[in-house]
Amino acid sequence: MSAVWHPFFQHATEPQPPQITRTEGAYLETADGRRLLDGVSSWWVVTHGHRQPQIVQAIREATESLDQVIFAGLTHAPAEELATELVGMAPAGLDHVFYSDSGSTAVEVALKMALGYWRHEGDGRHRIAVIEDSYHGDTIGTMSVGERGVFNAAYDPLMFAVDRLPFPAGDGQNTLDAFEALAKSGQMAALILEPLVLGAGGMRMYPATVLAGLRQICDRHDVLLIADEVMTGWGRTGRLWACDHAGIAPDIMCTSKGLTGGVVPLAATLASGRIFDAHCSTDRTRTFYHSSSYTANPIACAAALAQVRLWQDSPMQSRLDDLGAMQSARLARLAADDRFENPRQWGTVAALDLKVRDGGYLAETGPRMRAHFMEKGVLLRPLGNTVYVLPPYCVTEEDLDLAWDAIASFQG
Ligand code: PMP
Repeated sequence: MSAVWHPFFQHATEPQPPQITRTEGAYLETADGRRLLDGVSSWWVVTHGHRQPQIVQAIREATESLDQVIFAGLTHAPAEELATELVGMAPAGLDHVFYSDSGSTAVEVALKMALGYWRHEGDGRHRIAVIEDSYHGDTIGTMSVGERGVFNAAYDPLMFAVDRLPFPAGDGQNTLDAFEALAKSGQMAALILEPLVLGAGGMRMYPATVLAGLRQICDRHDVLLIADEVMTGWGRTGRLWACDHAGIAPDIMCTSKGLTGGVVPLAATLASGRIFDAHCSTDRTRTFYHSSSYTANPIACAAALAQVRLWQDSPMQSRLDDLGAMQSARLARLAADDRFENPRQWGTVAALDLKVRDGGYLAETGPRMRAHFMEKGVLLRPLGNTVYVLPPYCVTEEDLDLAWDAIASFQG
């Protein structure tokens, strides 16, 4: 028996997972010689395709001169250059870049920055508003701001309370009204949200006007807006950032998954001058006391810089537009099939729900669909009865057909 304890994996019932021996472009190759289309971009991290050559080359070159360097009191060119580029590409006003190594840490850092900000301002605000069904990570803090349920019931006693807004229905007035009522209290430190697409919560999507409306309420009542762009960033929703669709800038923004194109782990939390300045003082108690051993890993920063160059040097927007259109054509076809409902899409992410009687994440439908997709040579991971295709941007029409045909041929 393997010594590996896998995440989100039931060792008692699931067979030993296939071993992947090679990755390339949109595909994974197994030890027994099968090719699998990576229809979920390996947990949404792979944007430009597996082992994108320029990113891999940048990693090779970086290892010629650097490896991990303690980031407290020292710096290095990959971190400096990357920070400059991120500030240039991020929504306006996000002028400071704090590095970490996973999406969860990027969110933890964002929450700590927000709370730190209000404390240093001498204001007692500490409440956090969230949208129901959100997911921000699996640490205690990020679980607290995410949806509660079977995943985290055991840890409930340690989680902190938050104010939950209903998911936007239609034009989202329900969410805006609920938030305005809370924000008026003057107690609200921050609103944290996944802009436009609630990923792990079931690929639930809402209009950009709701995001813009929430920003306005934050402005009216001086509530910080934290955008968790961990999944939506780097083009996923059809623009570089999901926030770009609404023309808004958050006060704090988290990025991770696509930051290195999915080759090595890295995360960053970007903050506005207002947040940074509150921590920048001769009073040393205001120092931002957060770190992790691998902060700003130079190899990862070099990979991210190469990833950023792809946005600067290649026609990424037209690629996203094409992929969006390729996805909508296939989604429309399946939407006409009455076994499915709620077709939805933001850019490169397309989802719909299989009509089932035994709903819920733990229902048997999900694993049965997954097994069927694997047989068809496609890696897809339904969220309960929600099926979604979230491919690397290098997929061809044929690749996408393989994925969508696999979904269409599932016999519920
Ligand atoms: N935020 C969002 C929106 C995510 O989708 C995820 C991961 N699925 C995370 C945070 C956590 O990122 P990580 O798994 O890298 O800790």
